[in-house]
Amino acid sequence: MTDWPDERIWAELTHRLHQPDLPTGPVTATEIFPLRSSIREPMSHGRLFLLGDAAPIIPPMGAKGMNLALFDAEVFASAVRDYTATGDESGLRGYSDTCLARTWRYQEYSNWLADMMHGASGSPVGGGDSFRQRIMRARLERLLSSEVAARYYAEMFTGLG
Ligand SMILES: Cc1cc2nc3c(=O)[nH]c(=O)nc-3n(C[C@H](O)[C@H](O)[C@H](O)COP(=O)(O)OP(=O)(O)OC[C@H]3O[C@@H](n4cnc5c(N)ncnc54)[C@H](O)[C@@H]3O)c2cc1C
Repeated sequence: MTDWPDERIWAELTHRLHQPDLPTGPVTATEIFPLRSSIREPMSHGRLFLLGDAAPIIPPMGAKGMNLALFDAEVFASAVRDYTATGDESGLRGYSDTCLARTWRYQEYSNWLADMMHGASGSPVGGGDSFRQRIMRARLERLLSSEVAARYYAEMFTGLG
């Protein structure tokens, strides 16, 4: 955090929010938040089932962690209901594959988005060197100018992908 004195934090925030008159003040607490990505698979073993953050950790940029956790819970609850009501085990057996397919799609999306947003700004999180920064800026500009690219973003952001 020594690289990020209060003045730099406010300058970056002012720049990113396009708010030159943003009021500033002392920063009372700072924390480095690691952008982690991981998936534990398979998501089930015997009678053990992993749901939510117990299986994937997703970068926060896409706001997908809770949504994936709710999806897992819905798939799991339906599978348990079917098993207890009729003895049908197919839902429980297919649980891991069903959830992993969605998890990998949103892991890819969240990484794509985090790389683009941090990389385009030149942040070391997304790469930072000038070639990487230019690639990420090109990606961001395409997203802002192409209806097709915007549709992909909207589909994934709203959870329809
Ligand atoms: C700052 C922040 C912002 C986020 N923003 C978003 C967002 O905008 N959109 C989105 O979709 N996701 C977001 N997420 C991710 C989301 O919060 C998580 O992905 C989601 O809460 C995972 O749900 P979960 O039930 O798997 O785990 P958790 O919500 O972590 O629930 C686990 C629970 O288990 C309890 N627990 C732990 N150990 C034990 C134990 N030994 N015994 C009993 N209980 C225990 C914990 O206290 C906790 O209540 C955000 C996360 C953070 C940190």
